[in-house]
Amino acid sequence: MRALILSDIHGNLEALEAVLAAAPPHDAVWNLGDVVGYGGSPNECVAVMRDRSDASVRGNHDKVCSGVMPATHFNPTARQAVEWTMGVLTTESRTWLEAMPQGPLSPPGSSSLISHGSPAGEDIYVLNIRDAWGTLQASEHRVTLFGHTHVQGGFHALGSQWLGFQPAHRNGSSKWILPLNTDGTRYMVNPGSVGQPRDGDWRAAFALLDEESNELTFYREPYDLARAQGRILMAGLPERLALRLREGR
Ligand code: ZN
Repeated sequence: MRALILSDIHGNLEALEAVLAAAPPHDAVWNLGDVVGYGGSPNECVAVMRDRSDASVRGNHDKVCSGVMPATHFNPTARQAVEWTMGVLTTESRTWLEAMPQGPLSPPGSSSLISHGSPAGEDIYVLNIRDAWGTLQASEHRVTLFGHTHVQGGFHALGSQWLGFQPAHRNGSSKWILPLNTDGTRYMVNPGSVGQPRDGDWRAAFALLDEESNELTFYREPYDLARAQGRILMAGLPERLALRLREGR
């Protein structure tokens, strides 16, 4: 199984299209949630993912924007984006978002697990080894894929030996390979955010998991940033949501 891993698209159509155009050959597309929220093209992103994804788990923005959950714990900027998104979502888009399954789940034909936040709770952020520890120690799955933090990278552990890693893209490279051991090592991996990266690199982030060759490859792909920012501004969404795309924060 070669799976293309996409997470946190957040209504950024330009980033999503660039990622799909650059993606290496794959057997399936796994969607780790937050297809909408923040960006200016929620319906367009839903249409693409409805068509392309073979397995999906819902994100907190998918839940709130489709009315599954209230936005009470969202900050004012995020809430403004939720209100705008709810106003423009078509019935078709909302129905698809509403029906997105709660993670974690194991996609058909795969030995891995997908989750929006922590497998222990879909809205829990996995930010450090403390958050990842329980899963790394007890998971039946070699690889657990998660999103939610918008930071590409993750953790691996064999017993009490552990390591955190972040792809080395600083020299401008766009590809970083993590070989997967078959010795019982457990991996918690975040492909990064397609539509709103927060790890200091503005380029769209994604990953490819190859369960046969035991490799996980992290990618960064440039996209039409100005166009995505223009859509946010023209929609009347907060300016900060456009500015942060360039900062990758
Ligand atoms: Zn998100």
